[in-house]
Amino acid sequence: MTVVVTGASMGIGRALALAWARRGASLVLSARGEEGLRSVAREVEELGGRAVVEPGDVTDEAHRARLVERAARETGGIDVLVNNAGRGFYAPALRIDIDEMRRLFELNVLAPLRLAQLAAPYLERAGGAVVMMSSVAGVVAAPRFGAYAASKFALEALSMAMRSELASQGIRVVVVRPGPVDTPFRANAARAPGEVGYDRPDPTAQSAEDVARLTLRAVDQGRPVVETSAFVRVASATSRLAPWA
Ligand code: NAP
Repeated sequence: MTVVVTGASMGIGRALALAWARRGASLVLSARGEEGLRSVAREVEELGGRAVVEPGDVTDEAHRARLVERAARETGGIDVLVNNAGRGFYAPALRIDIDEMRRLFELNVLAPLRLAQLAAPYLERAGGAVVMMSSVAGVVAAPRFGAYAASKFALEALSMAMRSELASQGIRVVVVRPGPVDTPFRANAARAPGEVGYDRPDPTAQSAEDVARLTLRAVDQGRPVVETSAFVRVASATSRLAPWA
């Protein structure tokens, strides 16, 4: 089984790679930081998986094409594409830098779409799945998180359309919606000048390993959406039933 994971050098992507490695999968790993990626590749191999490392930026079309091509050439196909690489952005709406937001959409929306397009022929052959790492912010927008939420809402919309469109090709689309997760995500987020983001440790944050476990289960069971904590389920239900809240 071959799993392509973007944003695999740390956080949720690393935990996903290790979870699939424990099942003996071949992992094709992407992120910009080569050192982090190689360290995860070593962990994958120690756990009994196989790792192919392709460092690069998922907003770069040449990297995306290489990633898919190497997965197909070196492991024989693609069973699961995990679109996990992403970034936060803390800024009140009136202070959102438009170029920064454009870059955010390149990473959080257009890269997952483009990778799904490139991987689709292999996924179809395998009867495989695309995993879209969304967020509670894909269904609820919090103050100072408008740009990030807009990117995840867009990812959710594309995923919903793709789920119907790709069903006849035997490709499943699995949306994962975590709430706060204990990763370097907050430190790595973009922010408007003077904006501190949410830098305090969050005692309610879920572990990346827990998100990975629930993601693999959703892929195994062919579930369309997994909300990974009670916090997300309550926020998501409230946004549908009482959007003014
Ligand atoms: P993270 O710890 O900051 O990891 C992000 C990963 O994406 C890193 O491996 C990073 O590696 C990679 N990445 C960032 N920009 C990239 C680019 N341009 N090209 C290629 N790789 C890139 O964040 P995380 O918490 O694991 O988040 C993973 C996903 O979960 C994201 O889509 C995020 O929106 C979502 N999520 C996170 C949380 C949370 O609280 N942590 C909650 C809900 C949803 P390099 O920097 O080396 O490229």
